[in-house]
Amino acid sequence: MQVTLLILLLLFIICMFVWLLMTSTTLVEPSLGKRDLSNRINALLPQTQCGKCNYTGCQPYAEAISRGEADINLCPPGGDETIKHISSLLGRDYKPMDSEYAQQQSYVALIDEQLCIGCVKCIKACPVDAIIGAAKQMHTVINKACTACELCISPCPVDCIQMVPVNVEIKKWVWTKPQAGFEIST
Ligand code: SF4
Ligand code: SF4
Ligand code: SF4
Repeated sequence: MQVTLLILLLLFIICMFVWLLMTSTTLVEPSLGKRDLSNRINALLPQTQCGKCNYTGCQPYAEAISRGEADINLCPPGGDETIKHISSLLGRDYKPMDSEYAQQQSYVALIDEQLCIGCVKCIKACPVDAIIGAAKQMHTVINKACTACELCISPCPVDCIQMVPVNVEIKKWVWTKPQAGFEIST
């Protein structure tokens, strides 16, 4: 009799354990799924942490996309390539860069070579290796590589870096958004 009770008790404990395991998995899975998705989106972003998407960095932007709160076309440094990768990951249609954000792609950093003291602080700050130079030598920016993240500006001790507009070419030209209240006169 005692053995039967012991077996029943053991079975009850095993059943409870299995039930607890299944319940906790069900509760945790959705958040894990979201976290996994945001990590995968984040891995596609340029990691310049420039904030030009209006989020504090790439990870917060990725999380907002995974929650469906942000669109996939707000990262100017990532450009079209990043949008294509994210749309393919999410199985969504590609859409071009939001024109308001695309305007920010039309700038690059420019170093005043006469003022540069060659401290290399800007090189260390640039996340995409768009600055070349050596210690105590003049530095310069490779325009094609610059993503306009502005991360090199504040570390410069002599304020010799500024953002300047890129020459407008047909490939970089973006139609500006109509202003509020704009009306077509007839
Ligand atoms: S704009 Fe792009 S690179 Fe900059 S923080 Fe946002 S996601 Fe990252
Ligand atoms: S040169 Fe400056 S603005 Fe351009 S990508 Fe590097 S840190 Fe950003
Ligand atoms: S941080 Fe300024 S001074 Fe230093 S190397 Fe860069 S551009 Fe030159």
